[in-house]
Order: sequence, then structure tokens, then C-alpha cells
Amino acid sequence: MRASRFFISTLKEAPSDAEIISHKLMMRAGMIKRLGSGIYTYMPMGLRIIRKVENIIREEMNRAGAVELLMPVVQPAELWQETGRWDKMGPELMRVKDRHGRDYAIQPTSEEVITDVVRTEVKSYRQLPINFYHIQTKFRDERRPRFGLMRGREFTMKDAYSFDRDAAGMQQSYQIMYDAYVRIFDRFGLQFRAVAADNGAIGGSGSHEFHVIADTGEDALVYCPDSDYAANIEAAEAVAPSAPRAAAAQALTKTPTPGKAKCEDVAKLLGLPLSQTVKSIVLAVDREDADAEVWLLMLRGDHDLNEVKASKIPGLGAYRFATEAEIVEHFGTRPGYLGPIGTKKPVKVVADRTVAAMSDFVCGANEEDFHYIGANWGRDLPEPVVADLRNVVAGDASPDGKGVLAIQRGIEVGHVFQLGTRYSEDMKATYLDESGKPQLMQMGCYGIGVTRILGAAIEQNFDDKGIIWPTAIAPFEVVLCPMGYDRSEAVKAETDKLYAALQASGVDVILDDRGERPGVMFADWELIGVPHRVVIGERGLKEGKLEYQGRRDPAATAVAVADMADFVK
Ligand code: ATP
Ligand code: MG
Ligand code: MG
Ligand code: MG
Repeated sequence: MRASRFFISTLKEAPSDAEIISHKLMMRAGMIKRLGSGIYTYMPMGLRIIRKVENIIREEMNRAGAVELLMPVVQPAELWQETGRWDKMGPELMRVKDRHGRDYAIQPTSEEVITDVVRTEVKSYRQLPINFYHIQTKFRDERRPRFGLMRGREFTMKDAYSFDRDAAGMQQSYQIMYDAYVRIFDRFGLQFRAVAADNGAIGGSGSHEFHVIADTGEDALVYCPDSDYAANIEAAEAVAPSAPRAAAAQALTKTPTPGKAKCEDVAKLLGLPLSQTVKSIVLAVDREDADAEVWLLMLRGDHDLNEVKASKIPGLGAYRFATEAEIVEHFGTRPGYLGPIGTKKPVKVVADRTVAAMSDFVCGANEEDFHYIGANWGRDLPEPVVADLRNVVAGDASPDGKGVLAIQRGIEVGHVFQLGTRYSEDMKATYLDESGKPQLMQMGCYGIGVTRILGAAIEQNFDDKGIIWPTAIAPFEVVLCPMGYDRSEAVKAETDKLYAALQASGVDVILDDRGERPGVMFADWELIGVPHRVVIGERGLKEGKLEYQGRRDPAATAVAVADMADFVK
């Protein structure tokens, strides 16, 4: 590629709405262009990276035996009604009507459509297992689109769906995908961690998130440096309650009927809307308890009340107060109260103003955002809250007994999930077994946030000059910077020769023939983050040398002209 024929558009300053480094640098490097809230044009420089990410994913998915298809972005509402998600998804699901008044969803994910494909195409056990995937545009009407591609409304996801005869088969398919994800993130050249994730209503141990490690990540990961225990904060809490949380959990079990508290029921009680991940946040006061315990609980999915962890983790969703007076002092308002959930006792719903006061306290957000902040721990919370969380979790014993827990931040870039018969039951996706009996298919689903990877990679790899792409996903692997391409015959000849040699050996090289001054040229490529740079100048050529500098190298290295092509290959 010649820079003069490509499109390069760099900025000295990032637009003021760009808050985090990856968003700033992508805007400055001309990789994306904002069209609306959470909606971006992928500019040529950005698209090259997206294609490289997609290609690695595609290669590894194919290698793992998954089969590519492409499902529509616009999907009839009827399918979503079959699984109940037309209602359950709430406002995050973007809906449109056609000219006849028929409803459609703009896909945020594709379980319904793929299950429809499979229930009509797959009849016999002989056709199983099968794993379909696509790399397609998604739309989620996120409450707070932000950070550029990191939390967009329109974004690209690779989503795969496996169908198996039985649970054992599903687990096998799941493991194959898990292993493929490890290969994919290895190939990206990113530092990542797979963590056990909260399974919500599905139960079992069948969900893992893949996180790119970055201090700016929205998620908290708990891991044991001395073993392979790793979980996201929600899942970790479920298995590794620290001392205060253990005490809190014990106190909760004093309620007469712990049992199951369906989040929908709780939300109904409170008149709160549900979001996909955070099902409800409840401020509860147990008046039956002589000690008048007061709790703020966050419930995700179906939780056994025994498992609901309440602790001193503000913002994460669990406060513990000994007296009502403490609450008033903390939030400046009296809470309402809620009896033990799941009992027939009369309950009183939390006062609206209390919820508002809580959300004000958490980060000055509005009432709507309250739910969101449970879902997205970290960035928006005041620093003492973050410190508090670290103190609570870090240093606890690892549940596997092999050391103590540490905590770090991550960006969720992938998620694998054992779904069981969640969708096949609602949509009657069955196959005929050996004896000709219909059986429900066992499903798994597997997502990777293609466009989010760009943001995550930058959050992990940048310096004060700009982005530092890992070679595998760099927009270009090598940039040739000739000093006086249009002035010096020798420079032009040597540059063209090297350019041709690198192209011939399959190196993704760009030749900067724009005629910019060296300072401008270097600043642009350092900002864009091309990992390898070769400078071709008359002075060096006289000694038979070119200059090589890796993006992280403090200085250039002189390399003999004849050796350069091999050197950078
Ligand atoms: P998050 O917790 O960040 O909202 P999620 O758990 O809702 O993500 P999944 O439903 O698991 O997301 O989707 C699979 C992958 O799609 C995620 O792991 C993430 O990489 C990506 N993704 C989800 N939402 C967005 C978004 N708004 N913008 C970009 N990528 C996203
Ligand atoms: Mg989400
Ligand atoms: Mg998530
Ligand atoms: Mg997820």
C-alpha cells in the first residue's frame, strides 16, 4: 500500500467527548468517525484492524470445526416472542416496524434465529454436533454508549452456537470453543485471562468470560497467582465469601424461608425495570431481625438467598448497616423496608426517593443509571469505593486453598456459555435419537466483541506517542519512511526495492510516499501504532545502511541494506 493512495487523517487533539485513552487515540489516528451516540464509521485505517481481528477469529473458528453462515441483522419479532426475550430484553433491544406495521428486532445476538435454522434443518442425531457462527453487525441500545468502540450501540460481534445431543456433548463443544478462544487471544498478542463467570439463571459451571487485562477495564477479576483459579467478581463472591460477607450471608439465612428469590418477583415488588445483566437492586431492611439489619443487595439472575452476598462493598451492590440511623446518615433519607424475600409476610417497597438518593450517592448518576452502575463496577465509582473493594477481596483465601486472592481489572472481550435447553425448549428444537424419539438439543453460545478488541488492545498497548499494535492486528506491519522519496534517486530506488521485496514475502507494508516532513511522518506512524518502521535516507545509504526501529525500541538500529527485508519479515 502506498500512503498517497490510502486515506490517512490524523489529529493533534482528541475530541473532548473521548474519555479514555483508546477512544482518544483511535479518534486521533483517524480509525473511527462518530456518526451518532455509540455509532461509528470504521475508517479505512480502523477497518484494516477489524479485518485482521476477524480473520484470526475466522481461521480459529474454522480450525475448531465451526461452520460460518450469515444471519440477518433485522429479525422478525415472532422469533423473539417465542423465547420471551421480546419482552425480557427491555429497552436494550432495538425494535423497528415495517410498512405493514410488523415488528422486528435489530439483532443484539442471534440465539433465536440460529435455533430456528437448526430446528428446521437438523432432524437426526447423525447431524449433531454442529456449531454455526457468524461475524455480523449487532445493535444494542446501551444505556450509556461510551468509550468509542468499547461500548458502542452498533458493533461487530462474532457469535457462535453449538448444538449437541446431550449435556456431555455440549460440554465437549464448550471446551473446544474455550480452547479456540485461548488460541485466538494468544494470536492477537494480548495479555488476557479467562475467568469463571456468573451463570445467573442457568446454573452449573458453564460460563467463562475472556478479559483483556487493563487497569482501565470496567470489570473486576479475582484470581489466585499461585493456582489457576480465576473468576469475575460476581462469580468469585458466590464461592469465596470473605469474612464479612460470610457473616452477612449467615445473617441472611436467619430469614424464615431463604429459598429462591426470583429476580423478576423482587423487581415487581419494587417496581423496578430489569436490565439484561442486573436483574434488580434492592434496598432491604429486615424489621423482623432484632438487630434491624439493613441491606442493599444486588441480585443477578436467580439466587438462592443463602448465596446472596451482602458486604461492605459500596457500589458493587452490597451495603451493610447496623441501624437505620446509619442509613439516614449515609444517604440522607430513610429507607423503606422489605421483608424477607420469598415469604408471605407483607412487604413494603423501597421509597422511590431512596433509590434516587442511592444512585446520587453512588456516582451522581440519575435514577435510571442506578441499575447500570451495578452492572459496571469500577470506572464511575469514587476512588475510595474501588479501594474498599480491593481490600475486601484481595488477600482472601482462594477457594481452591492454594493461595490468596488478588484482584485486577479487565475488559470483557469474549464470553462462552453453556445454555443447555434454554432456547431449544421454548423453540422446540429437537432431533430424533437412535430409537427415533425426539430429544431436545443442548446448546452453547460463544461471543467475541470484534470491534471492542480494538479498544481493549489499545488500553493495554500505548505510550505518550500513540498506539502500539501487536503485529498480528496492526493496520500495517511495517512502514517505510523514505527521506526525500521525490528528491533522491537513490532513496527512491532503494525504497521501491525494499517495498517490492517485503510485499513479495507477504509482509503487510505501507510506503509513506506522501512527501511529509520526517517529523510529521514519524509522529503519524507512532500515533497510528505501526509496530515496525524502516527509514531510508541518503546518508545511511552511503554506508549501505537503513534504519530500523521497533515501536517500543528507544532508538533506531542500523541494518545493512541487503539484510533489511529479512530483518523485518
Ligand atoms: P458487557 O458486560 O460489557 O455489557 P455483555 O456481557 O453484555 O458485555 P455479551 O452478551 O456477553 O456482552 O456479548 C459478547 C461480547 O460482545 C462481549 O464479551 C463483548 O466483547 C461484546 N460486546 C457486548 N456489548 C458490546 C458493546 N456495547 N460494544 C462493543 N462490544 C460489545
Ligand atoms: Mg451488556
Ligand atoms: Mg458482561
Ligand atoms: Mg458477557
